[in-house]
Amino acid sequence: MSDRKTVLIVGAGLSGLVCGMRLSKAGFDVQIVEELTYAGGLLASSRIGKEYLELLPHHLRKTDKALLSLAKEEGLNVEWFDSLWYGRASRRKVGYFTGGFASLINSLIQDITDNGGRISYSTTVSEIAECTDGSGFKYATSCVLNDSGSLVIKSDYVIFTGSCRSFVNCSHGLPIPINFRDQLMNISYKASISIMMVLKRCPSEVYFQRLDSTTPFNRIVNHSNVFGIRSYGGNIVYLVGTCSISDSLWVASDEEIMDKYFSAFHKMYPVIKKSDIKSWRLTKNRYSVSERYPDQPLFTPAENMYICASGLTKYATAETPENRMDAIVALAGDICRQIIKTASEEHAEDNASVVTPIAEGMII
Ligand SMILES: Cc1cc2nc3c(=O)[nH]c(=O)nc-3n(C[C@H](O)[C@H](O)[C@H](O)COP(=O)(O)OP(=O)(O)OC[C@H]3O[C@@H](n4cnc5c(N)ncnc54)[C@H](O)[C@@H]3O)c2cc1C
Repeated sequence: MSDRKTVLIVGAGLSGLVCGMRLSKAGFDVQIVEELTYAGGLLASSRIGKEYLELLPHHLRKTDKALLSLAKEEGLNVEWFDSLWYGRASRRKVGYFTGGFASLINSLIQDITDNGGRISYSTTVSEIAECTDGSGFKYATSCVLNDSGSLVIKSDYVIFTGSCRSFVNCSHGLPIPINFRDQLMNISYKASISIMMVLKRCPSEVYFQRLDSTTPFNRIVNHSNVFGIRSYGGNIVYLVGTCSISDSLWVASDEEIMDKYFSAFHKMYPVIKKSDIKSWRLTKNRYSVSERYPDQPLFTPAENMYICASGLTKYATAETPENRMDAIVALAGDICRQIIKTASEEHAEDNASVVTPIAEGMII
């Protein structure tokens, strides 16, 4: 086994990429596996016109300390804009990366690959077990590939960035007490169904509008009101809804969901007709919003095994209910510092236990 410690990171969302960037820069051998065909997780973007645009609406806040410091470290430019929020009728400054959030994701990927890290897409972790083959690695992680092949990855450390529930499902064989598993299972998640529309015109001046339960979606975000039309080819409007996976909407077709969402939207803004839609894209996320979960342990009881999931962060306060990216970047930083510390302690122990052979006739 080489001296370089190996880290397997499950998930190429913001958490996984931040961990990957920090640890590959610190000299670890980093491998990231992602079940989807692309990186970014909830923060993924797709190309629209000449721009990259987030599949779900995102913005930065001045209070995003860890995230803004990461942006600076990555040399990314943040622009600040005034935005009008409906409801409490307030104006707030919101930030956006020049080039969108894709510039953050791409910059992290670049750092990882520049430092020898690897990202494998279409690779789903199905089980994490202790490695018992005498190879010296701590964990053996089984993965299922999209072409129905399989793969076992051995590593000294594992960081899991999927949902807390998925972690429990993947870790049956690990020595983790039942009460810790119960705590993880108690972190409930809502699913989300969001539609991003490119419209010929804009429904209102407001940037962010929270709605009551009479509409199938609970937020309207008029992205272009604040960040502009850029080269999108129209006004970007997001309709964001959360639901349970037992709701009939969750299994409905994209067209059925679009019909339902758009008719509710049209009732609110009759001026916007179906003919105003230039294009739309629907995104479903099974584990999108985790509920608040205070006083949880940061680290799993399994050695060298970490969970970096938003369900484990105390992200929400009354003033900043959505600083989730910031909390996850801070948690990723804590976890990486802990891994670097553990690895250097292990390294020091290994070196101390190297016994200098005593040559014949040597006086000690
Ligand atoms: C509609 C919406 C709007 C939001 N807006 C904001 C905002 O404006 N500001 C803010 O701060 N936060 C916002 N958030 C929250 C923010 O998007 C998340 O906190 C952040 O992106 C979480 O990143 P993550 O890497 O922890 O998780 P994820 O993005 O969920 O990434 C986890 C990754 O792990 C992969 N994965 C899971 N299980 C496995 C497995 N078994 N094997 C392989 N891969 C696996 C998943 O495919 C995914 O890519 C928003 C969220 C939503 C839903």
